[in-house]
Amino acid sequence: MPTIMRSIDEQGYHFEEWLTPERIAEDVQLVANQISSDYEHKEPLFIVVLNGAFIFAADLIRALKNVRCEVTFIRVSSYWGMSSTGQLEFIVPLQQVVDNRDVIIIEDIVDTGLTIHQLKAHLRGLGATSIRVASMLFKPGKLEYDDAKPDYVGHELTDEFVVGYGLDFDGFARNMDAIYKVKE
Ligand code: 5GP
Repeated sequence: MPTIMRSIDEQGYHFEEWLTPERIAEDVQLVANQISSDYEHKEPLFIVVLNGAFIFAADLIRALKNVRCEVTFIRVSSYWGMSSTGQLEFIVPLQQVVDNRDVIIIEDIVDTGLTIHQLKAHLRGLGATSIRVASMLFKPGKLEYDDAKPDYVGHELTDEFVVGYGLDFDGFARNMDAIYKVKE
């Protein structure tokens, strides 16, 4: 058990390694290849959803081939601990003009889809030409908003809570290089 997880483990949770760093790298490269072929002759604007997507985004954009692109960040909050409040709050608002841009939102995980659903509506209102979503993880069984289905997915999972590779457990464990499933 890595040191950073030990204190959390003592709270009565158990962590099971699910995706190794090597497997994650393969998933990220596949997503990057798809985006590279779809956007070869475009100049997409990547919008990275902080905080969780920062590690996936850093790996993904460096794995792209021949894609001239820009990268910007947004921070929203719709989660508290392990359950959703159903509210989306813009903590760091978008600072880039998206009018007439091909936008690709980079997310760590799409769960109910509320975050992406609301973000897409926001970006459409700002005049984006196209909006696609790249998410490292996707829980198809939990999706409540059809328009939030990600266009590019690293890996699917069922209704489980995962941490590591950018994903947190009450703020911690984002820096783990593998992805763990949390069991009570
Ligand atoms: P949604 O709006 O799709 O329901 O939730 C998206 C956000 O919820 C993600 O960006 C992430 O912050 C959080 N989230 C959803 N599922 C998980 C999970 O299994 N682990 C962690 N750490 N965060 C999650």
